[in-house]
Amino acid sequence: LSREAETVLDRIDEEDVDFLRLQFTDILGTVKNVSVPADQAEKAFAEGIYFDGSSIDGFVRIQESDMRLEPDPSTFAVLPWRNNGRVTSARLICDVIDTTSGEPFSGDPRRVLKNAIDRAHEMGYKINAGPEPEFFLFQEDEDGTATTETHDRGGYFDMAPKDLAQDVRSDIVYGLDEMGFEVEASHHEVAEGQHEIDFKYEDALTTADNIATFRVAVRALAAQHDLHATFMPKPIPRINGSGMHTHLSLFTEDGENVFHDDDDEFNLSAIAKKFLAGILEHAPALTAVCNPTVNSYKRLVPGYEAPVYIAWSDVNRSALVRKPAARVPAASRIELRSPDPSGNPYLALAAMIQAGLDGIENDLDCPDPVRENIYEFDEEKREEYGIETLPANLGEAVDALEADEVVMDALGPHTSEKFVEAKRQEFQDYLVDVSQWEIDRYLETF
Ligand code: ADP
Ligand code: MG
Ligand code: MG
Ligand code: MG
Ligand code: MG
Repeated sequence: LSREAETVLDRIDEEDVDFLRLQFTDILGTVKNVSVPADQAEKAFAEGIYFDGSSIDGFVRIQESDMRLEPDPSTFAVLPWRNNGRVTSARLICDVIDTTSGEPFSGDPRRVLKNAIDRAHEMGYKINAGPEPEFFLFQEDEDGTATTETHDRGGYFDMAPKDLAQDVRSDIVYGLDEMGFEVEASHHEVAEGQHEIDFKYEDALTTADNIATFRVAVRALAAQHDLHATFMPKPIPRINGSGMHTHLSLFTEDGENVFHDDDDEFNLSAIAKKFLAGILEHAPALTAVCNPTVNSYKRLVPGYEAPVYIAWSDVNRSALVRKPAARVPAASRIELRSPDPSGNPYLALAAMIQAGLDGIENDLDCPDPVRENIYEFDEEKREEYGIETLPANLGEAVDALEADEVVMDALGPHTSEKFVEAKRQEFQDYLVDVSQWEIDRYLETF
């Protein structure tokens, strides 16, 4: 075993871990677990754990159904909540190996991200990513089913002290801290019941692992307060939805920020501007991957701090990409404001990175920043500035994805095919449904 794996075995002993949750994600970003008793750890590291991949969304064709999980020892973390108050579990994030070829399975989202990271590495870069996930906390009814009643208002909770939300949030932050997350900020958001927890940027793979675990951890920790945490992008109409702004920068392998330039008006280097140009160029296709649900597009509408227009800005927050003010060179970065927390973090980051690298490789020109509030532009003014809009719904986004070779290639042949198929089906299911809005609007009118 590797030294790192040996260290994990020691920690399993020291911390009395009972079960290991071997985790990976399907195409949709849902965390899948294979749970094994902790005494299987040595075997898991030495031989991997075999499972039948045919039951996992988008994973396989029939002939590829035997998969092997290879736990990555650097991802070991004891879970800060206990089942039944007694059982201690730890997570290990795994790579998925195709047992027929013995090679990494090309449909494993973590592999898709590693491909993007490898390409950046070949170009001499290390990618840093920092997310700002938002979520709502809702009350559960007597049966434990989630409602859309925000928890900091209403009924029973009127009696509770005002800082109830703070209690839950500090529990969540404390739990994340125990797992090794470096939480930089946590605050109540604009909407009632809405929260944001930002954790420190890391290399892109660690950040994707973190986001996957974050969603599971927040839900589990909120459930201990009988609350349902949801990362659904727009659970309540006509108030702010939940996004996951994603900050990106390229460093050299020695830790120097390639995005920073002291002499530039915006402190952005030529490389940063090309990367940014790549993001803007591929923005419509990226939307399918970073905003992959029907509901995502209820968030991407004007007026609620979510982006709609393909432009960048150093001063206002209506643009798709913002250049945040950076006090030190290490903090020079760009912020993509469209992603929401319903996406698969591995695929979303892979797509963003490959789009940006394409901008560098093809020497794309970065447009000027737009320093006015784009929400207030009329169509004529948008045309004058050459500002396009993001896809209006999941169907348009999937069309844009299919038409974009760079982003399709970012996902790879297996995943892009399965993703497009799954998302077309999802949009079709939505189109044939009849919503409550239609009933309310038409049932008694006609
Ligand atoms: P906002 O102003 O949009 O609220 P925040 O300050 O809340 O932004 O979020 C900052 C995020 O950017 C954090 O996740 C932080 O770790 C991350 N970040 C800081 N520097 C970098 C960098 N060089 N590369 C990538 N992410 C970074
Ligand atoms: Mg923030
Ligand atoms: Mg913020
Ligand atoms: Mg926010
Ligand atoms: Mg932000």
